[in-house]
Amino acid sequence: MKISQILKDNEVTLSFEVFPPKTDALFESVEKAAGEIAALKPHFMSVTYGAGGNTAANTAELAKRLQKQHDVTVLAHLTCVAASREDVRNMVQTYRSKGIENIMALRGDVPKDGRRSEDYTYAVDLIRDIRSIDPDICIGGACYPEGHVECDRQSEDITHLKEKVEAGCSFLTTQMFFDNNTLYNFLYRIREKGIEIPVLPGIMPITNMKQVARSVALSGATVPQRFRTMVDRFGDDPAKMQQAGIIYAAEQIVDLIANGVNHIHVYSMNKPEIAAGILDSFSAILGR
Ligand SMILES: Cc1cc2nc3c(=O)[nH]c(=O)nc-3n(C[C@H](O)[C@H](O)[C@H](O)COP(=O)(O)OP(=O)(O)OC[C@H]3O[C@@H](n4cnc5c(N)ncnc54)[C@H](O)[C@@H]3O)c2cc1C
Repeated sequence: MKISQILKDNEVTLSFEVFPPKTDALFESVEKAAGEIAALKPHFMSVTYGAGGNTAANTAELAKRLQKQHDVTVLAHLTCVAASREDVRNMVQTYRSKGIENIMALRGDVPKDGRRSEDYTYAVDLIRDIRSIDPDICIGGACYPEGHVECDRQSEDITHLKEKVEAGCSFLTTQMFFDNNTLYNFLYRIREKGIEIPVLPGIMPITNMKQVARSVALSGATVPQRFRTMVDRFGDDPAKMQQAGIIYAAEQIVDLIANGVNHIHVYSMNKPEIAAGILDSFSAILGR
């Protein structure tokens, strides 16, 4: 099913993101975890893609199995930062041959070895290419409520975002954020610029100390005092930190839905217990 269909009625939806294994040896354990998350019956699941293309085969295989064996709609990611036009064409065809109808089109972070594509500079180039390869694919794009780290002015970032939408995105998913006001301000600014497509807030439950440093540093997300206090109090106790992190994310979600932001995307980090904890916290709101 196309994700644009799933989002059409603005009913509350919940989706989970998983990442593929970096090595084939880990495939089975990742598939098991992703399958347990699929068993929670999210509206769809996304499967990420290594920026340099190193996970291509595992992304495609995991996406296929989730859709065919676990009966969940899948959004398969694709990056272009180090890809050629031929790579992209092959990957789109691979996804199509595995029954994938939805692609998250991303530039990707520049790989450590500095390799850059000669064919693509920005995600918008990839979006146009996917459109021309197969006009029937439903395409999603990434957006950044606090602005992308490489862009000094948010107004410019929003101008580029509009180019992605005009190139053919049907929906956008946000970078993680820890203060909902950041999202509300962003939505106001993009709607003012005429971006009307659905925006899925990306919620990251922060459930252990390692993640705090890594996720926050990578995303550049602002850390509110309320979040710092939680980490300060519970960070040294894994069980308490996990519970507190789920509650923090669940509170963000309930506030978003209360304010009419109905399509929630959760970065589940391949952890079924975290996905289940989030789902339980607003199951009645979801109508479960
Ligand atoms: C929801 C989500 C999912 C993600 N999934 C993955 C994944 O699976 N794999 C992965 O490797 N990474 C992933 N990322 C990370 C993403 O690849 C990085 O954030 C990357 O740095 C930017 O990708 P983009 O698609 O947003 O790029 P773009 O939209 O190309 O934007 C990148 C930068 O270029 C600027 N820009 C865009 N167009 C122009 C232009 N015409 N002229 C000048 N500047 C321009 C933008 O303002 C921005 O600063 C994800 C991010 C998000 C939010």
